[in-house]
Amino acid sequence: MVRETIGANSKVSFDKKGTLILPWPSRGNTPLSEFSTRYFFTLAFPCLFPYASGDFNINRPRTCTSLSDWAEHLLWYKDGRFAKHRYFKFIAHNMIIRKQTLEKSSFIFQQKLGDSHISIEELKEKIEQGDESICKKILYFSDTLRGSSQYWSRRYKEVRSLEEYLINEGKGLPSIFCTGSCAEFHFKPLRRLLGMYVKLTENKHIDLDNHNNLYACLQENSHIVASYFDKRTISYFENVMGPVFGVSAYWYRQEFAKSRGMVHWHGLCWREDKEPHKLLHDCVVKGLSEPDCAQVLSDWAKYQFGLSAEHPAGYDEAGNSKKNLWPPPEGTAPAPPEESNPLFKLLMDVSESQDTVLEDYLLLCNRFNLHRCSDYCMTTNKSKSVKECRMGFGSENESGKQLRQFPDIIKDKNKCLRLEMKRDHPFLVQHSQFHTQGWRANGDISLILSTSGPDNPSVEEILAVEKYTTAYSCKGNQSTESLTNLFHEMLNTSSSTAQNFCSKYLMNTVKRDVSAVEACFEISRFPLYRCSHQFQSVSLSGLRIFESNGKFITKNNIFDKYLSRPPNDNCSFYDFICRSGKVPVFSSILQASWPLTEDYCRYQLLIHWPNWRNVSDIKPDSATWIVTMTAFLESKHCPNFVRADIERAKRHKPNDYAEESNCVEKASQQPDWVEGIRPDIIYAEVPEDVSFDDGGPHIDWSKSDIQYPTNYKSFIESFEETDNFSNDLLIVPDVNENTYKKVTSNLLLNL
Ligand SMILES: [Zn+2]
Repeated sequence: MVRETIGANSKVSFDKKGTLILPWPSRGNTPLSEFSTRYFFTLAFPCLFPYASGDFNINRPRTCTSLSDWAEHLLWYKDGRFAKHRYFKFIAHNMIIRKQTLEKSSFIFQQKLGDSHISIEELKEKIEQGDESICKKILYFSDTLRGSSQYWSRRYKEVRSLEEYLINEGKGLPSIFCTGSCAEFHFKPLRRLLGMYVKLTENKHIDLDNHNNLYACLQENSHIVASYFDKRTISYFENVMGPVFGVSAYWYRQEFAKSRGMVHWHGLCWREDKEPHKLLHDCVVKGLSEPDCAQVLSDWAKYQFGLSAEHPAGYDEAGNSKKNLWPPPEGTAPAPPEESNPLFKLLMDVSESQDTVLEDYLLLCNRFNLHRCSDYCMTTNKSKSVKECRMGFGSENESGKQLRQFPDIIKDKNKCLRLEMKRDHPFLVQHSQFHTQGWRANGDISLILSTSGPDNPSVEEILAVEKYTTAYSCKGNQSTESLTNLFHEMLNTSSSTAQNFCSKYLMNTVKRDVSAVEACFEISRFPLYRCSHQFQSVSLSGLRIFESNGKFITKNNIFDKYLSRPPNDNCSFYDFICRSGKVPVFSSILQASWPLTEDYCRYQLLIHWPNWRNVSDIKPDSATWIVTMTAFLESKHCPNFVRADIERAKRHKPNDYAEESNCVEKASQQPDWVEGIRPDIIYAEVPEDVSFDDGGPHIDWSKSDIQYPTNYKSFIESFEETDNFSNDLLIVPDVNENTYKKVTSNLLLNL
């Protein structure tokens, strides 16, 4: 029977004891194609596909049309075996990324660079002639590849647009920035969820109070950790950040720590009441002294957020800190017994009385609000030889923060104002009691301060806040420079075809190490960021952006709509766009450079000039855009965020904040056509990747298999108008859902 199964020609033999010996399978020298080898996954993972059914490359049920859908389905398969497998999720994720990258690079080459047979020599020649555009185009194009540097540059542009939008709406600057990390060993609901999952998938009870069991269970079920963390974050923003912290607008992203690979979120939040900006502005207007301002702000923060730098142990009758409740080395409190570990509890478990709430707060503070310096935070300062804690807790020679009797407002290293509250413990992190007890894991709530008032934040303060924004949205990005260098390096050593080179280059820009949790996050396609607002792309070039609402495209773009607004509607283009409630992200705005350029000035004036219908309303033919812009900058109509943009260019200190300059450059110099080929122009949360039909096991995924109309113009003309009263929507003829986006987007490139 064995012989029957493994084939008659196999060398099956028996040893002296009569034990069956099977030959070790042989291995060829040519790697098999993962995209076209039949039974590829069965061959690679025989234990996962014991009957060879469900393999993506064969026998696939019609319900999974793309590799992404297939992998997601398997990750959540009912017996949990795919999720549990050590390598499967990494290999599946890697293949998905490479497939998408191949798709995109081949698309950009055939559709944008026009000729898929351009030789590598021709490409090198172009570069030598100073044509840098190809490298940039490849990068812009790939900003839909989740998690890549290009992807986060795009997000940076959106967050900045959100800031400008909210300033314009009179909502001021963001009030707080915040973080929350994942305590996967402690979160009580997660533990319960894991127990239930194991019961459901393996039908066994597992004692997760046993640390070894818990550790193994977390390792095997990182998809449950990812999913739980995502849900916890959503719920926290809905039920805590809103009602407790007064947050009405937010943007946050999920990030994976380089070291541990575990997920955490960080974000920017705006408060509906525009505090503490209003409060601080009032203090300044009233002419309060600096210490008084700090006191007013400190009282407010204590009341609103439970913000504090004092140990919750409090003081004895003589006014001394109760150090017997501080853990060593600063105090003498013994470690609490494991059963009273506050991390295993929910807030409702400890909300019996005021005392139990306070005790919980104290235990949590001792647990994670005391900073302990390590290699991670100790960095060598360029100008000094001693190592300093970059979190501000002193240096090698002098550790800890200075104690404070009174609060103070200081300027940090980014020249941003920061509140330092009364402090009685050298290593206590200034924290929010509410966040500590609400999130129940390491986290941070920090105030963003401004004195100029929320109705019209000053240029300086807009610039200062931008630094936080950059740090939040662009963290961990490769710089444009390094990506460009990589392009040249690879080009010089490449001998393949140009298209091949393009794919390889793109692969290099998207490749990164992922942890198990990140792989699960990616395969499950959980959003990497969330925002209270939706974004809309706006083009000024007259380009019609195909909005992907089913089979319709819009006939008039928003620019046409602005110009044909009713005669009594006297608003700027910017205000007009913002009426939809969606944050405009302009596709064609160049980054301000100093001295100003005609292009930049033209764009800004078209957007922000109050009430115009013809270009001649803005400037006479004889005047330049620069001259008109210079006058506009002095007028009351010019928003401060435009002034801030120019001010940044004027100062132009690229190394001042390396990440910032990289992001800005990449995000703003994006050519217009990129907008047209973006899969989802208007999206609610995160653009889902377009799921292309892979065409079956024998199809080369990198090949384009879409038939395009030969005459684009007549194709466009064949679009029918709908009965929609606005006559704004056109029906796209005869293209199915799957090819729709590809066809329409290509039209844009060829029209
Ligand atoms: Zn430190």
